[in-house]
Amino acid sequence: MRIVLMGAPGSGKGTQAKKLVADFGYPQISTGDLLRDAVARGTEFGLRAKAAMDNGQLVTDDIVLGIIRERLAQPDASGGFILDGFPRNIPQAEALESLLAEMETPLDSAVLMDVDFDVLFKRLTGRRTCGKCGKVFNVYFMPPEKEGVCDGCGATDLIQRSDDKEETIGKRLEVYQRETEPLVEFYERAGKLKVVAADGDVDDVYGRLKSAVGLAES
Ligand code: AMP
Repeated sequence: MRIVLMGAPGSGKGTQAKKLVADFGYPQISTGDLLRDAVARGTEFGLRAKAAMDNGQLVTDDIVLGIIRERLAQPDASGGFILDGFPRNIPQAEALESLLAEMETPLDSAVLMDVDFDVLFKRLTGRRTCGKCGKVFNVYFMPPEKEGVCDGCGATDLIQRSDDKEETIGKRLEVYQRETEPLVEFYERAGKLKVVAADGDVDDVYGRLKSAVGLAES
């Protein structure tokens, strides 16, 4: 199963991708995570990407396509994958089509995680990630049992991503509307678009997502 998860920042792509990984074993390929890792390791890609990321802008296509090409060539991606946060604009979607055609592994579906903008804003400003185990919380919708403490591993460093600060979020949502929303039509024309209502309970959304991509148990 090869799928693209699309949706505005905060639409729950990452959370839902992790659930698919846990249940079905496909790797989650998140360009945001790959870029943050490159920044943390101080690689050349990371150094070039950092300023755009801190400003809520898109990183240039050559950097993103470089890291995605490397990642899709890894053995664990050969049996399928979930792309999270890529493609983010039409040139990236076209490049992905060519790359997958070259590999003779076409995409099965592109899923749009559909959420209202006011919900997105709270999801983003409330998001905290455990600095130790990576578990994700939301101070409004999914707080940890004990304030400031990770339910998963007990660590006390629940971190707000630097690009989840209010001033950057407005820009990220604007960039999404301008650059990424045209992909909905792109995939609709290709006959691959599935739309999932992504408001509400995480498990309900997951049920709808699995049905949309044909992974629901019968
Ligand atoms: P994300 O974790 O997917 O929200 O991505 C965080 C940031 O990484 C974005 O705001 C962009 O600056 C950058 N980024 C992630 N994926 C892409 C992509 N496909 N194209 C360009 N920039 C990206």
